[in-house]
Order: sequence, then structure tokens, then C-alpha cells
Amino acid sequence: MPGGASKLRDVRKLADARAILDLDIPVAQLPGLPVELISGGGQVHAHLQFGREQGYMVAQVGLKAPLELICQRCMGPMAVTIETNSPVLLIESEAEAEAAPVEWETYLAAEGRLSFEALAAEELLLALPVVPLHADSSACERSAGRSAAVRDAAPASPAQSAADAATARPFADLRALLDGGTKTKR
Ligand SMILES: [Zn+2]
Repeated sequence: MPGGASKLRDVRKLADARAILDLDIPVAQLPGLPVELISGGGQVHAHLQFGREQGYMVAQVGLKAPLELICQRCMGPMAVTIETNSPVLLIESEAEAEAAPVEWETYLAAEGRLSFEALAAEELLLALPVVPLHADSSACERSAGRSAAVRDAAPASPAQSAADAATARPFADLRALLDGGTKTKR
């Protein structure tokens, strides 16, 4: 669906029809992802099942996203496939969110309208590691060795200078921004 994926959808109709959608969304089209943690492009496969539960609109959101994350220890690339599948209550107002059962994750679909990209981005954010790290420092050295070889074709001498950078700030600021427009609660 070229160009059509980012518009707002009428989720009331989708919920009534119990619609099931499979979408491939380019990572670049997902709003608000932390660019300091994700490099490269790729696509996120989203499987969305709409319906109604206890009077609420619900979407079961399944994502499969082969991503290239940036290891926060060596700053090298790190292939990770994120898979997540969770139900989300689609609420039409903050007031409705207050009344929703607390065990549900909620997502604001104001006036029954929703951007698939924004919903997928939110779910992906929740599933992303806060601080992506290679399994251990030897994996970092291998990654650093590869990067050095690509950069200058010189024998790699992987300096572990980035070790202190592992305290990289999680995307707390970003979450705050997102929460301004969409509300998620536990
Ligand atoms: Zn690493």
C-alpha cells in the first residue's frame, strides 16, 4: 500500500469487522524510534487483529522486526530480531483510559482513529532492549575488529575505550515525548 500506510484509520470499523491485517512497514516510517540505538533500515512485519472486549476496542499487535541495533558498549552493529505480541486496548479518550481495566495496555485512538505506524512503533519501543549490548566483550571485540577492517583495512587493535559509554542514557526523554501524544499504562 504505497503512501497509504501512514494515514489515520477508522478503528471502530476495523473492530466491528474483526479485521486482520498483515503489514510490512519500513522502519524508517516508524515515528519516534531512538536513532541512537537503531541503525540501518529494514522492515517491520505487523500482524494486527482487531476486535472488541468488554465493550472496548482491542488490537492484538504482533510484530516481527529484524533490526540492526547499535551495541552501547562497542557502538558496533548488532543484529537482533524483535518479536512481540500483545493485546492493546484502543481507547478514544483519556477518560476512557482511566476507566479501563488496569491490567490492559492502552493506546489512545482519538475519535476512533489510529496510525498503524504509531501503534507499531509504540509496541516496538516497549520490546526494545533499553541498552542493547553484545552478549559479552569478546563479541564486541569481534564487531570492533570488523568495523576497523572496513574503515581502514589496517590490523585491528580493538581498544575497549567505549566501555564507559555503557551507561548510555536510555530513551527516557523520548518516552516522555511519546507519552505526550499517546498514553500507555500498566
Ligand atoms: Zn558490542
